[in-house]
Amino acid sequence: MDPYDMLRVIKEIESRGMKIVGLFHTHLGHHPNPSYKDLEGMRSWPIPWLIIDKFSGEYRAWIKSDDKLKSIEIEVVD
Ligand SMILES: [Zn+2]
Repeated sequence: MDPYDMLRVIKEIESRGMKIVGLFHTHLGHHPNPSYKDLEGMRSWPIPWLIIDKFSGEYRAWIKSDDKLKSIEIEVVD
């Protein structure tokens, strides 16, 4: 997402009194492990990141805390 679009979305969310509790995005055909770019982004956004492999449907959630990457167990419900 373009950084300016992201800033606009953040301001809109905060103006509604809401809070961002996680981010998600898709990978196209590789594992749902954080890329180098994702790891850099996690420094700015130390909240859970859900990554979904669009082709396989595999997903994993991650958080980076104290410069350590941790996998988060999640449960998807209907
Ligand atoms: Zn990614």
